[in-house]
Amino acid sequence: MTAPVLSLNNASVRYGDTTAVDGVSIDLHAGETLGLVGESGCGKSSIARAICGLAPLSGGSLLIEDQDAATGGKTDRRFVADRVQLLFQDPVASLSPRLTVGALLAEPLKIRKTFSPESWAAAVALLRDMGLGEQFLSRYPHQLSGGQARRVALARVLTAKPRIIVADEPTAGLDLSIQGDMLNLLRGLRDRLGLSYLFISHNLNVVGRVTERVAIMYLGQIVETGMTSLLFRAPAHPYTQALLSSNLTIDPERRRERIILKGELPSPRNPPPGCRFHLRCPIAQPVCAVRQPALEAQADGRAVACHFPLTTISQAMAG
Ligand code: SF4
Repeated sequence: MTAPVLSLNNASVRYGDTTAVDGVSIDLHAGETLGLVGESGCGKSSIARAICGLAPLSGGSLLIEDQDAATGGKTDRRFVADRVQLLFQDPVASLSPRLTVGALLAEPLKIRKTFSPESWAAAVALLRDMGLGEQFLSRYPHQLSGGQARRVALARVLTAKPRIIVADEPTAGLDLSIQGDMLNLLRGLRDRLGLSYLFISHNLNVVGRVTERVAIMYLGQIVETGMTSLLFRAPAHPYTQALLSSNLTIDPERRRERIILKGELPSPRNPPPGCRFHLRCPIAQPVCAVRQPALEAQADGRAVACHFPLTTISQAMAG
């Protein structure tokens, strides 16, 4: 595997008295697509914001291309903005309604003071690569379909020539066929431009299609991480198993019995003691209520935070 282009080490993000992200470590390698999965409110978007310099870390570190990028200074913000771009979840809301597509494409170049005939021609070529001809330059965001607006947002992000794109639910709300086109486009751009993606989604079908590795989050922490194919085939954490069991497309024959989790996601302001998942976990034991499991590396290359990982249990039963 290539060297990480981005390393989040033991990172925390706090808003007031709420710790939205608590001791998360993530490595993103060059040319890789890493999925970040979990229910809404689990801290995924806070990680995205922290990586893009939009939320300060309250603990831990962020290295981008081996340089400390979380000290919060102006130079840092510029360094991060030159390398990392956020593809927003709601593209229409992220595009100013008063600007035409042409003005939206020109804006990042002007902000960076890199506007020139060459950079403008490259931006228009990017738009064309997205399947949007020059006739789109005079259109306004409200005149675009959901798929077209996402392509414009992507072209705008790419004018900054980032190395890393943090894509927050990039296909949410799109029809299945348009979703497929968008995923193919993202994959093609990644390979052609040498990009790395942190792909945030709660849609497991999409994550299964585009990511090589995945990290599963629960209540501000990573509970399992490893190769997507391995985790989706044989989850080791009961939370990963429950997420997968509720997905009919991943498991069309329902070989896995659907696991309905008890209760709601607890508030990150007041997380349960011990394992944060113990109030909802179908296999919780008394120790789970008092001792927090560490994220530990397993022999098959994944890491899991559980006192009783499922793969160990099934291996023991098979043996
Ligand atoms: Fe369930 Fe206990 Fe594992 Fe937490 S540590 S996931 S409560 S079995």
